[in-house]
Amino acid sequence: MDLNTITAVAHPQTRAQLPAWTAGDAWLAGGTWLFSEPQVHLRRLIDLTDLKWPALTITDSHLSIAATCTVAQLDGLACPPDWLAAPLIGQCCRAFLASFKIWKTATVGGNLCMSLPAGPMISLTSALDGVCTVWKAGGGEQKLPVVDFVTGNQRNRLMPGDLLRQIDIPLAALRRRSAFRQISLAPVGRSAALLIGNLDADGALALTITASTVRPIRLRFPKPPDTNALRAAISDEVTDELYHTDIHGKPLWRKHMTLRLAEEIRGELLGMARP
Ligand SMILES: Cc1cc2nc3c(=O)[nH]c(=O)nc-3n(C[C@H](O)[C@H](O)[C@H](O)COP(=O)(O)OP(=O)(O)OC[C@H]3O[C@@H](n4cnc5c(N)ncnc54)[C@H](O)[C@@H]3O)c2cc1C
Repeated sequence: MDLNTITAVAHPQTRAQLPAWTAGDAWLAGGTWLFSEPQVHLRRLIDLTDLKWPALTITDSHLSIAATCTVAQLDGLACPPDWLAAPLIGQCCRAFLASFKIWKTATVGGNLCMSLPAGPMISLTSALDGVCTVWKAGGGEQKLPVVDFVTGNQRNRLMPGDLLRQIDIPLAALRRRSAFRQISLAPVGRSAALLIGNLDADGALALTITASTVRPIRLRFPKPPDTNALRAAISDEVTDELYHTDIHGKPLWRKHMTLRLAEEIRGELLGMARP
């Protein structure tokens, strides 16, 4: 839709050209959410396109995903064969239930900054130990894990004028075994629960719970838990008020599915771990 309160659009090409942040400003990434509802409080958009950050960079230690990388670009990444967790990329991109037009436009950074419980790029990057780099409004940088970046439904650690620059994924996380489960109330509905498990070579298991909860929750087990220990850990960590409620699922059902999908993941990962 037209945003008819906007009077200016800035197109910075470098960090030095970023305009001083004022009330009524918004960063414009893909615009898939920004242009989907009225934004009467906004006066100026600061378009991130001309910063021309490389979408995806692989170093000796990390996969760096620019905040402006689109879902389609991430989905198209050719992953080396030893990235055992690579299927998670496609699975999470497909959990983004949108048309190809949205896929080609929506950005990974925009998804994190929206901080919706059903943000599939939040699920992916928090499960893979992703670390956000934030350009602070006053200068300098802040690094924080994705799992700490999102603090609630449409809430995160960004302060006014802060800009998410990139998300770094350790290659070690991409080399772990993983298991993915997702469910929606309707066949093409938004995720109501999306869980990802990872198993380290030393037997440590991590479980990331998203979509059913208002923020990502990560549980770590030095040794794989049995059914009861897994259930007890989830019940301790995910208190009832952390379960999300909206048209896509009631909290009690989300809790039930979280426990069920977690147990499926446990079974799948331990099945794979057997000699
Ligand atoms: C049909 C449809 C289906 C959708 N399905 C889903 C879904 O399943 N799950 C889901 O989570 N969302 C969904 N969305 C919402 C939205 O499209 C996504 O969250 C998308 O990833 C947002 O990315 P964007 O690049 O378009 O962000 P924009 O719309 O450009 O921006 C979103 C918000 O983030 C801010 N922002 C963007 N980039 C940065 C940055 N680098 N630093 C700081 N702030 C920034 C913007 O100022 C704005 O407030 C859907 C939208 C549509 C239209």
